[in-house]
Order: sequence, then C-alpha cells, then structure tokens
Amino acid sequence: MENQISLYNTLTRRKELFEPMSPPHVGLYVCGPTVYGDAHLGHARPAITFDLVFRYLNHVGYKVRYVRNITDVGHLENDADVGEDKVAKKARLEQLEPMEIVQYFTNRYHHDMEMLNVLPPSIEPHASGHIIEQIDLVKKILDSGYAYEENGSVYFDVVKYNREHNYGKLSGRSIEETLENTRDLAGQEEKHNQVDFAIWKKASPEHIMRWPSPWSSGFPGWHLECTAMGCKYLGDTFDIHGGGMDLIFPHHESEIAQAVAANGRDHVRYWMHNNMITINGQKMGKSLNNFITLGEFFSGKQASLEQAYSPITIRFFILQAQYRSTLDFSNEALKAAEKGLKRLLAAAETLRSLAPSANSTLDVAGLRQKCYDAMNDDFNSPILMAHLFDGVRMINSVKDGKETISATDLDLLRKTFTVFIFDILGLKDEGKSSAGNDELVEGLMQTILDIRKEAKLKKDWPTADKIREHLTSLNIEVKDTKEGAVWGMKE
Ligand code: ZN
Repeated sequence: MENQISLYNTLTRRKELFEPMSPPHVGLYVCGPTVYGDAHLGHARPAITFDLVFRYLNHVGYKVRYVRNITDVGHLENDADVGEDKVAKKARLEQLEPMEIVQYFTNRYHHDMEMLNVLPPSIEPHASGHIIEQIDLVKKILDSGYAYEENGSVYFDVVKYNREHNYGKLSGRSIEETLENTRDLAGQEEKHNQVDFAIWKKASPEHIMRWPSPWSSGFPGWHLECTAMGCKYLGDTFDIHGGGMDLIFPHHESEIAQAVAANGRDHVRYWMHNNMITINGQKMGKSLNNFITLGEFFSGKQASLEQAYSPITIRFFILQAQYRSTLDFSNEALKAAEKGLKRLLAAAETLRSLAPSANSTLDVAGLRQKCYDAMNDDFNSPILMAHLFDGVRMINSVKDGKETISATDLDLLRKTFTVFIFDILGLKDEGKSSAGNDELVEGLMQTILDIRKEAKLKKDWPTADKIREHLTSLNIEVKDTKEGAVWGMKE
C-alpha cells in the first residue's frame, strides 16, 4: 500500500533527496474542510495528526510549507457528480450568500483549531480563489486525451486512463469493483462510462456558484482543486499529501489520475492517511445520528456527553492513538484522557522545582532518545506518550527522594519535557492560562473600583458615573454593599 509511510524511512530518504539544500524543505498538503457546517471530532483528527507532523518536521530541522485548503465550491451532496453544492445548499436554506456561509464556517473552524492548539498552515487556499488554475488543469487533461467534453461539462475518462495507467494505484480497487459500487444516479447520462468523473460541470440555471470557462458557465469538479492548488504551491511533485482515510477513494485516487494525465507523473511522494474516529464502533456521521461538534464537546451540551471536555483533553485523546489506528470515542476514554493529561502536566510543573544532586540514578539521555525513536517510527504518538509517562515516574521518584538527578540530567529532562509535551504534542495547561487571566481581570477590576471609590469620596459624580456606564456597556454590573463595591457579569 502506498499510503503506508514510515517516518524513519521518510526522514532518511528525504535527507538524501534534499542533500544539497540547506535547510531541507518539505511540501505538505492536507485536504481541509468543506465549509458548510461546524467542525466535529472527525475534523479534529486530521487537523491534529498533520499538526503533529508539521510540528515534528519543523522541530527536526525541515523547512515545511504546509498547505491546507478550504473547499468552498464544487463539493456536491453525497460526494457525487450530480446534486446540489454543499455550500450553496446551506446558503439557500439560510437565505445567505454562499460566501457568507464560507466566511462564517471558516471563522468558526479557525476558532476551533485555535482552541485545539492546531497551528495555522503556511498557506490556506480557497478552491473558489483558484478557478483559473483549475480551468488550466482541465485544459491540460483534455489536451492529453484523458478527458472529453459533453454538453458543456468535461469528464475524466477513467477507462482510457486505466488502460495505460492504474486507476486504483492508491486504493487498491479495481475498476470492476468501482463499477459495482457506483450508484446509478440520475443526470449522469453524459458520461461515457459510469466510473468517469466530472472535472468541469456546466451549471444548471438555478446553480448560483458559477464561473465562465471555454466549455460552459459552470464550476470545477471536487477532486480538481487539490491537484491544482497542491501543484501551484508545492510544485508538480511534492513530498507528503495527507487527509482522512475516507478520502483515499475516490478523492485521492482521482487526484493522482489528474496529475498523471496533466503532467505525465504522480504529484505525491508519500501519502499519509489518518484513520477514522468511531462512536461505539460505528463511523461518525450525520446519517448515523452520532454527530458531535467540537463546540458541543467543549461545552458538554450534547445528549451523549456526560460532561464538557476541554480542547486539550480532546487533543490528548486523539494523540493517544497512532494516526493509522481507529479511535473509538466514549465518555470513559475521554475521562481517562483528562486524567492522563492532568498527571502529565502536574509532573511537568513538579519538574520546574526539582533540586539536582551530585549524581544521577536515572537514564535521562536514554529516555530522550526513546522519545525521538517513537516519533521517527511513523509519528508514533502513543509510544511517545508512554515514554513521557516513564519520565513522570522519574520525576515523582526524585521528588520522593527514591532517585537522584544531576544538574545536567535535570536540564536535559526539562528540555525533553518542554520539547515533546508542549512543542511537538502541542499540549498546554489550559487551567493555568485562564487562571492567569482571571487574576489579571480581578486586579484590573479592583483598580477601576478603587478609582470609582475615590471619585465618589471627592463627590466627583461625573467620573463615578462614567466608570459605571463603561462597565455596564461591557456587561459588568457593579453593586455597592456595606463591605464595598462588588462586581459581576450580568446574566
Ligand atoms: Zn482534497
């Protein structure tokens, strides 16, 4: 399977590839969300998986250009070639402009990603902003003879392509198998073969998201954008293309076919796919009614959630599984993640105040090496975490006086914890930052209330009133009691 990747091999092989360049560059392209609804747990997994890849490759010295796209056009219902555009449908239901839907859900996606401590990609291109590149790609594919035009739409000729290449290279599916699984949908009569897919679609009169092209006023096929934008920003051949396993077929299989048809060669050196998140063993999805958004996890306001789970708890939970394994959601698993995270962060805090001894009874250098070995073995985050928990035991036994640690080793252990817990796994102490903010807000409010008190004593009513008015406009209520003024947020 081409989608299996061992980082160890990747790193050593890529070092050879990039030998003359300093620093070595890596191109990473990941399929981003189709922005017509809130992100759910299924969106968090690829985002966190490739954030880990991005962080680690950066840490070991690669200069990574990370491209994660926003799909805002051409993704039709049921991932098919007919039906309504997902974004346009939402816009129709909400009576908004499609681009208002795109902006709204892109903003919310960014907010969720920030909460999960997912770093922003280097480039976040929108499909709708790259229509020209996609039209160019269609032209190239037509010129090479692997596509045909039919009534203003252009279809990729999968059967012809498969005679000369292999449509099934990535997924391992044969054309016969694909044919068996292809649903007979109305409106597909234009295709020469059922397996063919649209690379340009003529827009029906009611279709609002449309652009002029040599073939018709229409829109690009869904698979086209990633080939066009990946090649635009990372070159005709780039290093890593990632996404969820559900995208292997037909999305990524079709991307390869488009690239080979247009440029004569595959555009991706390594494919990486994260496995799916299941809920009680079933795939998560709207149709199964087991769909929980990230916002619902953070607030706990959803029937199947027993409590709220913080964003970093969700992150820890996802990183507890290797990206190629399935991950089953349950309240128990999330509560266990919450406990594990707390233990790890408490040890990191203890580590700050440990005192060194003359000698070490611990092998800190060995622990550090094991952490790197785990990450070099195909980004094995659960094994990395197991080693970090060995570190937790080390810290606690030094604290309890059962082991000793030298100043050099203490420094190394601190660095190891900082690098792997915070920089690479991207975990953080959420309580600490918000408690810090609470303290700051409390201090600022006390200062403001003191100024108000002085103003009142001086009978400077305009100043006192002004303070109260400003606070009211911020939804802050001030009450004067016998003990002095108290404040709170208005309900
Ligand atoms: Zn894609």
